[in-house]
Amino acid sequence: MSLLDVKNLRVRYDGPRGPVWAVDQLSFELSAGELVALVGESGSGKSTTALALLGLVPISGGTIETGELWYEGRNLLTLSEGEWAKVRASEIALVFQDAASALNPYLTIGLQISEVLETHRGLSRRDARKEAARALGDVGLPDPEAKLANYPHELSGGQRQRALLAMALVAKPRVIVADEPTSALDPALGLHVLELLERERKTRGAGVVLVSHDLELVAAHADRTYVLYAGRVVEHASARELFAAPWHPYTAALWRARARLDGERPRRLAAVPGNPVDLANLPAGCAFHPRCELARERCRSERPELSGVLRSDARMSLSAARRAACFEKESLALERPLESEP
Ligand code: SF4
Repeated sequence: MSLLDVKNLRVRYDGPRGPVWAVDQLSFELSAGELVALVGESGSGKSTTALALLGLVPISGGTIETGELWYEGRNLLTLSEGEWAKVRASEIALVFQDAASALNPYLTIGLQISEVLETHRGLSRRDARKEAARALGDVGLPDPEAKLANYPHELSGGQRQRALLAMALVAKPRVIVADEPTSALDPALGLHVLELLERERKTRGAGVVLVSHDLELVAAHADRTYVLYAGRVVEHASARELFAAPWHPYTAALWRARARLDGERPRRLAAVPGNPVDLANLPAGCAFHPRCELARERCRSERPELSGVLRSDARMSLSAARRAACFEKESLALERPLESEP
């Protein structure tokens, strides 16, 4: 049974050029102990999805038009703000992309973490402070006792990111939503953060939703991956299958454009060809067609639905749970896998 079950989520923002749907009919599941990744370019809807999982869409100015978010037999989208406040941190925690704005600038790091421990785990102030220091040490902050007395602005960007992670993990949430948790960290610290998330999965059965643009990281750590474009899932599969042989041209383009971080500097930085999608002016048919070299007439008028491939050869049998929204997926599925080297 799923820990989290998102069904047909649709999130609207009303802008100066009219309404846009940042997330459109998004569905996915997360099981206990699983790491599910949401990937895509900026504006694909992955960070809006992260906000929706925490009931924070209204604060961002958006509206959830339709959808269900099932957790422990409850549809969380029916909760009042007071009920959401109980769920956040203790059951579903978010590690924000922007640690500077997520931490309260007027409170010390120690007070902010201790408050979570006192509220959600019922610790005394003294025990909460001890536990907060332990949590800061756990995420790799040097001299954690001293860090308790620091205000957020006194820490570096990487240290703030790790303090935020410590705050998210101390309440032992069953679901951790991590929005670009390693983007402010150097590779070694980023790896440490992923190891901590792995530990939470293995020891407590926590489920992790990882929002990331770093495909190397996703390929190495995710169990399953959902690729988003213009707010919709365009492909999902196990991470191993997805990047070894993408069915959707957008997935293949993302993989080819990824930054290679196997040296001190990225060996190659590229971008997916064409202009990023404009949500206020979506093209008819397949939203990716203006950027797709395989686009045909049908792609310009008809939107492909997410579906599997109904062929039964040796490769297809590996892919029973795969889905892609592309008219050409059958032929792409039979092409040779992408090579790992560019
Ligand atoms: S449906 Fe057509 S335009 Fe869209 S990704 Fe597939 S081939 Fe390209």
